Amino acid sequence: MLKGKTALITGSTSGIGKSLAEAFAAAGCNIMINGFGDKKTIEALRAKLEKKYGVQAIYSAADMTKPDEIAQMVRDAEADFGKVDILVNNAGIQYVAAVDEFPPDKWDAIIAINLSSAFHAIRAALPGMKAKKWGRIINIASAHGLVASPFKSAYVAAKHGMVGLTKVVALEVAEMGITCNAICPGYVKTPLVEGQIDDQAKARGISAEEVVRDVILAAQPTKKFVSFEELNALALFLAGDLAASINGAALSIDGGWTAK
Ligand code: NAD
Repeated sequence: MLKGKTALITGSTSGIGKSLAEAFAAAGCNIMINGFGDKKTIEALRAKLEKKYGVQAIYSAADMTKPDEIAQMVRDAEADFGKVDILVNNAGIQYVAAVDEFPPDKWDAIIAINLSSAFHAIRAALPGMKAKKWGRIINIASAHGLVASPFKSAYVAAKHGMVGLTKVVALEVAEMGITCNAICPGYVKTPLVEGQIDDQAKARGISAEEVVRDVILAAQPTKKFVSFEELNALALFLAGDLAASINGAALSIDGGWTAK
């Protein structure tokens, strides 16, 4: 279905982005991966995508806090593959503190990586999509794009902003064969969440199992993490032609969290 398309996935050296990179490669897409990490590990991931799935995979080290590097990342993908058909804005970080204790530099970093990077990437990729009259923009927002939790001011603001950005882009591209949607996951067990489990266990003086049950999954009615496979399936569906009428949506995949 997606054979021969190109997918650029930001923040794909870890967690959800890495899982999406594998899923899109398995569906036949050429892939540009991006994100931080150990050089050898990233090269091993890139090579694995090529070998296992028979697609081309390239890596961009672009820092999502730097607009020029983001624009260059898109230009590099277009130069190598001729186009960017599918853009997944996934890179993100988290920081947890009360608003009046929230370090301004952490606020700026979260807004830059979790929100502004999507604007810069969309801005750079859209002209190519418009020229081909086909494109899919998938923004990985969060349940926190729809509802709030205490101590996550920057994250919640950025993710709500991403849902708003999604709607505006969707309206602008609606007649051009392009869609723009946000996926709003509940908790997925990635390194980003594992870090929170350890921090909360230390802060509260309880075990990691208790943090998962009583703190993290307390929000999620299913009491289960959202799986990578479930997220991959939703993203692949949005990228397909049968999702052409899903546009400007914020799709919850959160075990019922935001139904409350
Ligand atoms: P993760 O920490 O496992 O991965 C984050 C990725 O972003 C990594 O590849 C990292 O290198 C990259 N990244 C961070 N800063 C960057 C920068 N400045 N430039 C380029 N890349 C950068 O996290 P994850 O849990 O896989 O999160 C991925 C996305 O999913 C985030 O936007 C996050 O907010 C969102 N999300 C996660 C969950 C969850 O429960 N894990 C839930 C809802 C939404």
